[in-house]
Amino acid sequence: VIILAIETSCDETAAAVVKNGVEVLSNIVASQVDWHRKYGGVVPEIASRKHLEFINPVVKEALDRAGLTFKDLDAVACTYGPGLVGGLLVGLSAAKAIAYATGKPFIGVNHIAGHIYANFISHNDIELPAACLTISGGHTDLLYFKNRGEYKILGRTRDDAAGEAFDKTARVLKLGYPGGPAIEKAARDGNPRAVDFPRPFLEKDTFDFSFSGLKTAVINYIHNRKQRGQEINVNDVAAGFQQAVIDVLVSKVIKVTKKLPVKSVILSGGVAANRSLRSQLQKELNYRNIPLYYPRLEYCTDNAAMIGVVAYYQYLKGDFNDLSLNAEANLKL
Ligand code: ATP
Ligand code: MG
Ligand code: FE
Repeated sequence: VIILAIETSCDETAAAVVKNGVEVLSNIVASQVDWHRKYGGVVPEIASRKHLEFINPVVKEALDRAGLTFKDLDAVACTYGPGLVGGLLVGLSAAKAIAYATGKPFIGVNHIAGHIYANFISHNDIELPAACLTISGGHTDLLYFKNRGEYKILGRTRDDAAGEAFDKTARVLKLGYPGGPAIEKAARDGNPRAVDFPRPFLEKDTFDFSFSGLKTAVINYIHNRKQRGQEINVNDVAAGFQQAVIDVLVSKVIKVTKKLPVKSVILSGGVAANRSLRSQLQKELNYRNIPLYYPRLEYCTDNAAMIGVVAYYQYLKGDFNDLSLNAEANLKL
């Protein structure tokens, strides 16, 4: 089964060709980060315009790299939410047009399911049930993943997403955009114990998260130091912030492994690219003999290959959409 998948929910215009939900024949990502950087975040209007400019060449390149033409496809898939509605509409219009012109089935995919299923590209044999932590720019979702297609939400963020906390804190520290990689880099030269930031919700008996207070704590710390004329070690602040986020994420995942019969732990979303998080969680799970999985770096952040993987499972179930499917900015899992 060969599926062309399109992803335009945020600021990457992406297309991929995926075979049988596991073999990535091509994976093209046109990042718009250079156009959004000076604004310190994604500007929706700019994103829509850039998607419009990039979508046709990106789709063409995905097919060319796979050495295929539209005729060879079994279905056309596209993210229909959650995300920025203007961007989603560009991808959807392209995918529907291709499906209509070629007479192939059309499949609408949830972006967050995509982040999770990205794991099955590199690891097709993950033992389920699993605890699954999705940590991206817009989401922090902790799931109990029973099998491919059945999951239960255990907890999610009450305010900022984990990636959002990285991005906002990076802005406060003037480390640039996107914030996650910038904080990780600065933290490598800092001492994570130099500044003690709060661990929000750590003690509470809930799987929910809260990160907005952490950003405020960083702002207050900087403000107070400045008022007293004290120097600020940006690397230490970055390391202290990152460690606070990691402590909360790791402890909640471990709590799930104690409460539910999980055989593995799966990470997904852009923050899963963070090496300190990966290694600290790995260490904790090693004590418990539970394997940890995360997607390869290029499948952690937004891409279309992950959409092609979800689409494959929908294809197997005959779960097709008609061409009236609309974009859903706040689509839930
Ligand atoms: P969503 O998937 O929720 O709609 P999104 O698509 O913007 O949001 P992703 O592309 O999955 O999110 O991830 C982007 C986020 O990941 C950004 O917030 C970015 O700062 C963060 N991120 C990327 N690399 C790292 C890293 N090494 N450490 C921490 N955070 C990171
Ligand atoms: Mg992005
Ligand atoms: Fe995403």
